[in-house]
Amino acid sequence: MKKKSLALLIAFTLVFTFALSACGGGSDESADSGEEKAVLKVVTEATFAPFESTEDGDDTIVGFDPDMMAAIAEDQGLELEWVNMEFDSLIPALQSDQGDIICAGMNKLAGDRAEKVDFGDTYFESDLMLLVTSDSELTGIDAVTSDMKLASQIGTTGGDMVQAMKDEGKIADGVVLNQWTDCYLQLQNGEVQGVIVDKPVGEAYLNNHGDIAKFVGDSFGEHEEFAFAVQKGNTELLDKLNAGLANIKANGKYDELVDKWFS
Ligand code: GLN
Repeated sequence: MKKKSLALLIAFTLVFTFALSACGGGSDESADSGEEKAVLKVVTEATFAPFESTEDGDDTIVGFDPDMMAAIAEDQGLELEWVNMEFDSLIPALQSDQGDIICAGMNKLAGDRAEKVDFGDTYFESDLMLLVTSDSELTGIDAVTSDMKLASQIGTTGGDMVQAMKDEGKIADGVVLNQWTDCYLQLQNGEVQGVIVDKPVGEAYLNNHGDIAKFVGDSFGEHEEFAFAVQKGNTELLDKLNAGLANIKANGKYDELVDKWFS
């Protein structure tokens, strides 16, 4: 009797396994095309609203960059997933094959970045501004005195600037923090007297905090050109991203997203 039930169990298992593999297991696409679409990993630092940020208590990354990349991906038949990490980890992530694309309001002209990754066409332009509390008497970056502290985000053009100003003795300390939200907090707590931030990002902060903060003076530093980036040498992917960007600019989708996030 035992031998018979064991034989039945083996037979059932074989039939079930065959049936499962014949159904393809995954999505209809894999059954039809027999090939899974590679999901490309986009790495970013999501405290940079309105380019990328997360809603309170929700890890979903929202902003101009996710919307723009989704439109490019649709245009080019790509599938993306987003990973949030510290800004100064973004380029190392691509160099160590932990990410495929950087999209993070990253200035493609800064430092030696272009030696480490390949940047695409410019999708946004920006400048740096000095953000201070509403009651500040500062008139601009040139009015900052050597007893003051300025904050910005680590690994960014603003972060590099506050560190350079510290090294040159222009300020008492250049505070570089992992998240922009921490920079704003230190400004409001009086721990620093100013934050060096990208103009469109500071404007978004002022939209909600115009009663406690302001910009002072004109923009300064290198004029920035934001671009997505891919691993060094991945020209096939970069060509697709550039083509998708050109297409969404031509069909009006890009302008629609600019209106959505910057008007
Ligand atoms: N645009 C600045 C840079 O490229 C800041 C970018 C950011 O904080 N996401 O360094």
